[in-house]
Amino acid sequence: MRKNSFVESQKQFDWAAKRLNLGKKLRTSLRYPQNFIQKKLIIQRDDGRLKTFTAFRSQYNNALGPFKGGIRFHHEEDADTIRALSAWMTWKCALTGLPLGGGKGGVICNPKELSEKELEKISKAYGKKFANYLGPWKDIPAPDVYTNSQTMAWMLEAYEQKMGISAPGTFTGKPAELGGHEGRNEATGLGVAITTREAMKYVKVNPKKATAIIQGFGNVGKYVAKHLEKQGVKIVGYSDSSGAIFDPKGIKFSDALKYKKENKSLKGFPDAKAMSNEKLIEQNCDILVPAALENVITEKNADHIKAKIIAEGANGPTTVKADDILYHDSIFVIPDFLCNAGGVVGSYFEWAQNNSGEKWSLKKYNNELDNVLTEAFQKVTETYEDEKDINMRQAAYLVAVKRVANAMKLRGRV
Ligand code: NAD
Repeated sequence: MRKNSFVESQKQFDWAAKRLNLGKKLRTSLRYPQNFIQKKLIIQRDDGRLKTFTAFRSQYNNALGPFKGGIRFHHEEDADTIRALSAWMTWKCALTGLPLGGGKGGVICNPKELSEKELEKISKAYGKKFANYLGPWKDIPAPDVYTNSQTMAWMLEAYEQKMGISAPGTFTGKPAELGGHEGRNEATGLGVAITTREAMKYVKVNPKKATAIIQGFGNVGKYVAKHLEKQGVKIVGYSDSSGAIFDPKGIKFSDALKYKKENKSLKGFPDAKAMSNEKLIEQNCDILVPAALENVITEKNADHIKAKIIAEGANGPTTVKADDILYHDSIFVIPDFLCNAGGVVGSYFEWAQNNSGEKWSLKKYNNELDNVLTEAFQKVTETYEDEKDINMRQAAYLVAVKRVANAMKLRGRV
């Protein structure tokens, strides 16, 4: 049976709440979203028929600032997954010290079966129907699975039309022409490379002598490879949904990228050994970067991992049981909501610039990203050392939940 992500997220929170000794009222408030909105979106399909889609927005917590989180379009979406993702956004924003709360949205639809015009209609219907709940000082969506900068442009248009205002800070991940930032595309991958650099310092791995394996060659995986290589790390393995390639002598990022562009997949890359994704993550390397799917490191393979550092580019790549094994094997894990937080930090920069009218250079954007993530990394390792018997994920939870709990207390909400 598919795991209920919301139940999982509550278990993680319960552990932190117990450890932090949070009072009953505070625990109860932080176990559920503050608001959960569900609406029907009715659009006319290209063949003239009317079709109804179910849409959600989960506003988990806004004690630290406006709700913030993506909107995904997926045919298997459900309310509890959206609730869980909104909880994780709350902890991610808190961990990185952003003045933002957490939220998430979704529409149950299959974008692969919809035309461009139909996607535009769904996006605009969402922007209009949810307009009263959104805004730069209320709730700020962004792209997520199967949504992109174009989706945000359509939603922004519908939102502004309905509200009769111009408020680009309502959505992040917009096209550059509408107030987006050129740095956003690489921000998540760059952020993974920044936290990995800090982890290398922490566990004393020399980047110039280090090797890395990257699972997934999409928006995150590609830019992790680019930026780790810039630090001097040798990438020895890559993979995508077609399979994996491995060469202990190293595979240059530019070669992998060129091959993928020309052949649409990494399959058949010359001179490298072809293997399955499962085998790839068990190969010799210093850094393993899962940057594709959830639950790829489990109790079945955790013991076979040879990396010294696991940098979780993907959300939820490691199961709870695998976490315990990795901890006992002294493998240093950079937990997902720290490791891949570069995306939301970049979104925060975009929002701040939209609201102030400033325009940052790419250099400033990337430098600030580095500062925020380095500080978050240091804060988590301090807690990890102080508490002694916990893993890095638990340390990150303690930092994040404590910040939200303090904000709740300061506001007198509990
Ligand atoms: P993407 O769709 O751009 O890329 C996914 C990659 O994974 C593709 O290369 C695909 O071929 C590969 N893949 C699919 N199935 C695979 C399999 N079975 N084995 C190996 N590779 C497989 O997605 P993305 O935006 O790069 O996101 C990847 C992960 O990072 C997701 O978990 C996502 O939630 C997370 N994440 C993304 C961002 C962001 O800004 N894009 C931010 C935070 C977290």
